[in-house]
Amino acid sequence: MKAVQVVGYHTTLQLTDIPEPTVEGPLDVIVRIGGAGVCRTDLHILEGQWEEKSGVALPYTIGHENAGWVHAVGDAVTNVAVGDKVILHPLITCGLCRACRFGDDVHCENSTFPGIDVNGGYAEYLRTTARSVVRIDDSLEPADVAALADAGLTAYHAVAKAAKTTRPGDVCVVIGAGGLGHIGIQVLKAISGVTVVVLDRNPAAVELAVKIGADHGIVADGTHIQQVLDLTGGHGAEAVVDFVGEGGATREGIAMLRRAGNYYVVGYGENIDVPTIDVISTEINFIGNLVGSYNDLQELMTLAAQGKVTLHTTRYRLEDFQQALDDLDAGRVRGRAILVP
Ligand SMILES: [Zn+2]
Ligand SMILES: [Zn+2]
Repeated sequence: MKAVQVVGYHTTLQLTDIPEPTVEGPLDVIVRIGGAGVCRTDLHILEGQWEEKSGVALPYTIGHENAGWVHAVGDAVTNVAVGDKVILHPLITCGLCRACRFGDDVHCENSTFPGIDVNGGYAEYLRTTARSVVRIDDSLEPADVAALADAGLTAYHAVAKAAKTTRPGDVCVVIGAGGLGHIGIQVLKAISGVTVVVLDRNPAAVELAVKIGADHGIVADGTHIQQVLDLTGGHGAEAVVDFVGEGGATREGIAMLRRAGNYYVVGYGENIDVPTIDVISTEINFIGNLVGSYNDLQELMTLAAQGKVTLHTTRYRLEDFQQALDDLDAGRVRGRAILVP
């Protein structure tokens, strides 16, 4: 089959011909890829940023945002059948460790990560297991939802936490109206009663955020902290979901947070610098967020099937992977780039 592989770092990916993956264990599921999302992480892999962390042996097939159709299943697989449309949770998890038993898939102690440390989805077929496949509604196309497997899941995981700790009428500030922010806004409007205030430096992104459901859009122009305080009677927001996490976003975001408010860190890059006396005297909380669980992905697919969460995508043939990566690198992709074998 055709597959796009990492053959070295600081060099381009290579389209090559490798054997199709086969069922090796009783819980294995082979998926015919219908769409593989092209992610900024793929660029970072080629830059060598993951070389030490993943320890993956080269060459291997890249691509960690995958959806498609079940092609073959092991003897013990009962939750999906050949032909089912599925999206793949990004991790292959053991199901037996303490984290797995809590449903906390991301912290599985024995996981592998297709596209990062084993063969991924820039290919015609991929091997995963029964635990990682989420069946999707007939109305959904794998290529349309593939990118929700990572970027969408991460946004869902964070804002679903915010939805659980807020009440209707509370205010949630979303910092960053990019790809993750757009998913986050749609999810908040679908599952919570909060007033969504979106903040971004880019006026066009703010405009689009309001179009897809944000209650208030604020362009970061130096008056934005005051604008949030004005919208909240001077108290600040009950929740801030920060999809940026760099360039001063955390300092500003914390200034918008109400007493006893929750600060959800999703984007990253800078240090959080807060006097501890401010943390105890206001009882504010900082909450980290890493991808999401299998159940998060299933819930997100429910919202997608209901038409409440949609994602703009630009499709490329698998052979045109280099064009897709170049377009992503140059900021030319509208929404998410998807490779379709
Ligand atoms: Zn990704
Ligand atoms: Zn586990």
